[in-house]
Amino acid sequence: MDIFNKLLERKGLKSTQQRYFIADTFFKTSTHISLEELLKKVRRKTPRIGYATVYRTMKLLTDEGLAIERQFGDGQTRFENVPEDGHHDHIICIKCSKIAEFHNEKIEELQEETAKKLGFKVLRHKLELYGYCSDCA
Ligand SMILES: [Zn+2]
Ligand SMILES: [Zn+2]
Repeated sequence: MDIFNKLLERKGLKSTQQRYFIADTFFKTSTHISLEELLKKVRRKTPRIGYATVYRTMKLLTDEGLAIERQFGDGQTRFENVPEDGHHDHIICIKCSKIAEFHNEKIEELQEETAKKLGFKVLRHKLELYGYCSDCA
């Protein structure tokens, strides 16, 4: 959380307890959490936190590269922590919105190869597979 305090300092923002609590709650999640879910979570302890504060805090974290924003096609914006063990991709159930993560070195290499053939140097990519999970199939 030091990193968050430094960020607020740099931005000339006061480290309000609410912002701190929201960021702390987010950093402790291990899922792809939507704003509504995060709001629900923080309100359990601090009922007076508003949607706008959660939104602005997450926007700040995303802009600074401390959170990753994801859209999986259901109209919800979700956030996840920057993975410590590197990049991963997602597979999403279009019925129950279950999200699983995967990393496949073969796929990564194929993407690199494909880009190279097309004369591109890839800086980042986002691979999302959509379908039904085993519970919904
Ligand atoms: Zn499902
Ligand atoms: Zn993920």
